[in-house]
Amino acid sequence: MIYLDSAATTKPCREAADAIMNTMQESFGNASSLHKMGIISEKVITGAKRTLLSKLGEGDIIFTSGATESSNTAIMGAAEIYRRTGNRIVTTAIEHPSVANVMNKLEERGFEVVRLAPKNHPDFEQALADAVDEHTLLLSCMAVNNETGFIVDVKRLYKLVKKKNPKTIVHIDAVQGFLKVPLDGDLISISGHKIHSSKGIGALFIRKGIRISPLLLGGGQQKNLRSGTEPVELIAGLDAAVKAYHGTAERFGGLKARLLAGLSELSGITVNSGDNCVPNIVNFSVEGVRSEIMLHSLEEREIYVSSGSACSRGKTSGVLAAFGIPDKLADSAIRVSMCAETTEEEIDALLDGIKAGIERFRR
Ligand code: PLP
Repeated sequence: MIYLDSAATTKPCREAADAIMNTMQESFGNASSLHKMGIISEKVITGAKRTLLSKLGEGDIIFTSGATESSNTAIMGAAEIYRRTGNRIVTTAIEHPSVANVMNKLEERGFEVVRLAPKNHPDFEQALADAVDEHTLLLSCMAVNNETGFIVDVKRLYKLVKKKNPKTIVHIDAVQGFLKVPLDGDLISISGHKIHSSKGIGALFIRKGIRISPLLLGGGQQKNLRSGTEPVELIAGLDAAVKAYHGTAERFGGLKARLLAGLSELSGITVNSGDNCVPNIVNFSVEGVRSEIMLHSLEEREIYVSSGSACSRGKTSGVLAAFGIPDKLADSAIRVSMCAETTEEEIDALLDGIKAGIERFRR
């Protein structure tokens, strides 16, 4: 099996799996319990927070069920608290549905939502900051796009936005960027299953001094910001996965170069991931072979990739269009996403599979 779909989800690493199992067996207490078992669980949570804060900055962490919940909490929670500072929200046309659909909801509720597409703005960070005005309560932007690997320099963006309006809250969806690119933001969403931890766990970084209102009401856990008994075993798994993470830009860069060199020898290939992209995600289109056909052709060889354009019920997300990629290319786009365990041999097997798919299916 050759798994090249790590932007969809990653294989949990041994360290995370062991931490989850050990915690389930030995530290299964409710972190709210006052006895020793509760205190042990509380310590697991505090340790995981420390690990995440060492990567994200000065502030607090709340653990969630995943990045979808983190971003819903961040955006809805900030909109509620900071509504009096303005009615305008700036975001992008390339967001994951976990952000894009929250924006649609806020628009229905009367907020003005401005969405910028990279194809119209060569200096994307500057354009986003320029769109911020004195009525802008929130800016939400992803650090790395999940379909193409496109990087937004969110450190620069953060500085530019705060210069324009220090009151604007900056939310970053860092699901594909965490541990891969430098991050900055008032609120940062991350997801466990994209970094070799389990599904069902995510986190939201809340910078010191930033307030949000909770999405979930209940027992008041996590300082009232996210009620519900903390999944201490999944939190331990996330902690372990972050500590064990060993993907490097150098290694991914070598694999990407090998993939691109191989693709350049095939006819009718268009690479959709430009230079400003993380090296672990490569999106390309294969002329004359629709995405699903190539995907299943590769699957026959036990090679797993994604169609390059995230689809929902047969409709493309429109994200590739926001990069200026025509529909015809989007229809035949393939996304290859690597992890630290990906090998050169796997890339070579993928290239063989694409060549065979072209010979068999190109029309
Ligand atoms: N944001 C981005 C950029 C993603 O790629 C994904 C998952 O594909 C999500 C958010 C949602 O993350 P989760 O599955 O943890 O809810």
